[in-house]
Amino acid sequence: MKVLKFGGTSVGSAERIQAVAHLINDNDPKIVVLSAMSGTTNTLVEIANCLYRNEKQTAFDIIQNLEVNYYIVITELFETEPYIQKGKKFVQTIFTYLRSFVNKDFYPLQEKAVLAQGEIISTTLMHYYLEERGIRNTLLSALEYMRIDKDCEPDYFYIRQNLERALRQPNTESLIITQGFICRNAYGEIDNLKRGGSDYSAALIGAAIKAEEIQIWTDIDGVHNNDPRIVKNTKAIRHLSFDEAAELAYFGAKILHPSSVQPAKKENIPVRLKNTLCPQDEGTLITKESPAKNVKAVAAKSGITAIKIKSTNMLLAYGFLRKVFEVFEAWKTPIDMIATSEVAVSLTIDCTEHLEDILRDLEKYGTTEVDENMAIVCIVGDFAAGKTGLGAQVLEALREVPLRMISYGGSEHNISVLVKEEDKKKAMIDLSHKIADLQSDETE
Ligand code: ADP
Ligand code: ASP
Ligand code: MG
Repeated sequence: MKVLKFGGTSVGSAERIQAVAHLINDNDPKIVVLSAMSGTTNTLVEIANCLYRNEKQTAFDIIQNLEVNYYIVITELFETEPYIQKGKKFVQTIFTYLRSFVNKDFYPLQEKAVLAQGEIISTTLMHYYLEERGIRNTLLSALEYMRIDKDCEPDYFYIRQNLERALRQPNTESLIITQGFICRNAYGEIDNLKRGGSDYSAALIGAAIKAEEIQIWTDIDGVHNNDPRIVKNTKAIRHLSFDEAAELAYFGAKILHPSSVQPAKKENIPVRLKNTLCPQDEGTLITKESPAKNVKAVAAKSGITAIKIKSTNMLLAYGFLRKVFEVFEAWKTPIDMIATSEVAVSLTIDCTEHLEDILRDLEKYGTTEVDENMAIVCIVGDFAAGKTGLGAQVLEALREVPLRMISYGGSEHNISVLVKEEDKKKAMIDLSHKIADLQSDETE
């Protein structure tokens, strides 16, 4: 069985929903994971923000506008009156539910329920559309099987057990439509896998059922060798290893949710990225191994904060780094990059929710300095130990960019540098020229 995930733009209009329905109708058993129609989750976030700020009228107006847009989609999507009515009735229920929050106090728990409606609508519309076309399918609610634990990590056992149970039901069809992004938390409340989380849903489902393949269908022909939103003339990479893809996803390649490679890697399930707008394009295949290349790709992650802890006498003492790391652990804040010297250690974080607490606790071990608004630029390639020249060439390409930190040797396929946000674009463009040179020397 395969798992196919279609992102927001892939289901972003009535026409796109019809195109996806056509793509998935080939009699192969599959689980189809859908995102919300593009723009919907952002609008739901906006509604939630207005509700928090008690801007009732604005929230109400945004809800009305979104509802009207869905009625337009429905009239374009369905061909028969009964299905137009069925679609409208369903959408009306969702929007009545959203309006019910307008005159109440608003809490984070309710925000999660509001955000979940986008995927609930897109999957229901797809289910009805397939039904209207006479294509048998089962709409399976992700809230029945997708779950995170108290640490917001996937509850693998629960997911597998409940998904398998749903698949075993005698009335379950071989074409299953389900929601990405949404889940329940350890307390059974509606929650989500964070923005862009539908990729993660697909990977978790694929791993749970040991799928033959996980396909991520989006609006571009695979993972490109640099960020196409920032750099011109980027090219799709045909083959990546799980580790290379995980580095790129973690360090900012938006095409994949940061955690989405891990479940596939764990179960050794190939991940294929495909373009819905051009299904015949080859796309990118992610597997355990991939042919080595000097430099494969560059990605960048913004919103990074660097913290330097300076200690006059403690750094060399054993136990010092442990104490520093324990502070971050206590505040549940992951560290991305680290650089050490005899007198100081620098590290980066992307979540500043507990920055003040962390700094207060670190003061016990030394003086601290903070640099905000930084970016990590990550270069993925073949930096195997003992190989000469490549690291130097990468750094040479960055000669005009001030570097705050460098991380090399953490893995064999990554060099990361920390730069100021304002230097990120230049770093990525300069690296893209270097990649073009290096790749033109290599055969595909
Ligand atoms: P979806 O809605 O299908 O999940 P996303 O917008 O999340 O799609 O991801 C696809 C987008 O990711 C592309 O349109 C592209 O702009 C962006 N992107 C950023 N980095 C890369 C990259 N290295 N390769 C391909 N796309 C990238
Ligand atoms: N709809 C969610 C979002 O916009 C999840 C996703 O698209 O992957 O973040
Ligand atoms: Mg996405």
